[in-house]
Amino acid sequence: ETRSAKNYVTEVFELVKKRNPNESEFHQAVKEVFDSLIPVLAANPNYMKHGILERMVEPERVISFQVPWIDDHGKVQVNRGFRVQFNSAIGPYKGGLRFHPSVNASIIKFLGFEQIFKNSLTGQPIGGGKGGSDFDPKGKSDTEIMRFTQSFMSELSKYIGPDIDVPAGDIGVGAREIGYMFGQYKKIRGAYEAGVLTGKGLSYGGSLGRKEATGYGTVYFVEEMLQDVGLGFKGSTVVVSGSGNVSIYAIEKAEQLGAKVVACSDSSGYIYDKQGINLDTVKRLKEVEGKRISEYVIQHPHAQYYPDCSGIWSIPCDIALPCATQNEIDDAAAKLLVSNGVIAIGEGANMPSTLEAVNVFHENKVLFGPAKAVNAGGVAVSALEMAQNSMRLSWTLEEVDLKLQEIMKDIYTNSIQAAQDYNAPGNLVVGANIAGFKKVADTMISQGVI
Ligand code: GLU
Repeated sequence: ETRSAKNYVTEVFELVKKRNPNESEFHQAVKEVFDSLIPVLAANPNYMKHGILERMVEPERVISFQVPWIDDHGKVQVNRGFRVQFNSAIGPYKGGLRFHPSVNASIIKFLGFEQIFKNSLTGQPIGGGKGGSDFDPKGKSDTEIMRFTQSFMSELSKYIGPDIDVPAGDIGVGAREIGYMFGQYKKIRGAYEAGVLTGKGLSYGGSLGRKEATGYGTVYFVEEMLQDVGLGFKGSTVVVSGSGNVSIYAIEKAEQLGAKVVACSDSSGYIYDKQGINLDTVKRLKEVEGKRISEYVIQHPHAQYYPDCSGIWSIPCDIALPCATQNEIDDAAAKLLVSNGVIAIGEGANMPSTLEAVNVFHENKVLFGPAKAVNAGGVAVSALEMAQNSMRLSWTLEEVDLKLQEIMKDIYTNSIQAAQDYNAPGNLVVGANIAGFKKVADTMISQGVI
């Protein structure tokens, strides 16, 4: 049985590589999930019989479109837009939009694929999707951002809706971009469909606690991991990469739980503040002024700035929270963290560790929380935002935060349980993949071959 499950996985993985040549990030994400699923497939041959893997790795729909816009010098610019509608078994497609020059079909597919399992893990009725553009928001004026996002939504609006596909933010897409996109969608549709996007402003259907959700959820999850072995954030030294929305609120919650966060970064470099990072300064630089993290040391001259963002993993810490981007921790960085005594890793970003890095953490008995489980709080609160939009009411911050804490606890418990059930005790990569997979796979069987 195990042998035929292994053969099945190998066969489908070969198909993925053949159909999606040169898409290394997508291959990586599929390989990680497939490796976890062998025992489940062996125990449930029904999944093979119903062709679940073949169907899961092929997006239900891939949309690629032109995004033309005019820059402030009157020059015509053309970017590429994407939306991958991956799996709608358990709910409308749900997932963020990423605006970053690195965006291509492989990046969007890996993110969309992971979103299927992450969204399933939240326990909310949301399918998996992702989108974005290779547009670079860095250095663009507010009017350029507005023209670009409006053009992007002019095309995307044809494919989304509150019961069809509900985008949100990701790297390069925050409250401002969501606001401009919502305005454009409303104008095109001629209807006020609040639930079409999440991460909205509070005055037009946004949820309290959504902004904080990914970062807070990351820390809630890692606190569960630590408590299971009698530890906690209290008194620990923490390194958080990135300085965007996920990082800022991970730092905030870690500090609230009594940790000292000594470093964070952006794509140009990292800061090291032995006394503990002053979060107000980071928030002002990043959320208000749109400046580089290097400017932190102007205000806090005792801190150091290093113009090399991957160097952040050389700082000794108890807990590392990679919250920047994919593959930011490679084999060498993982070994460095281990040799400096790291106890726990929590992936706030999507797929921040390479497959080799994850192996290093597992081999060295480091507590490892994978992205699909750890950063699911963001999309979970997005689903709560959709629920509030449907009911035309809004919950208090306390209500949302309590629900988020419960969701993160459930994700942890369900992942640990699934790992235990399938002979990989304590392995949260295996546990999260299996728990997320089973609900979607069983639902696909219930709904037939469609
Ligand atoms: N971009 C976030 C993620 O990676 C949030 C998606 C959402 O809220 O739909 O899960």
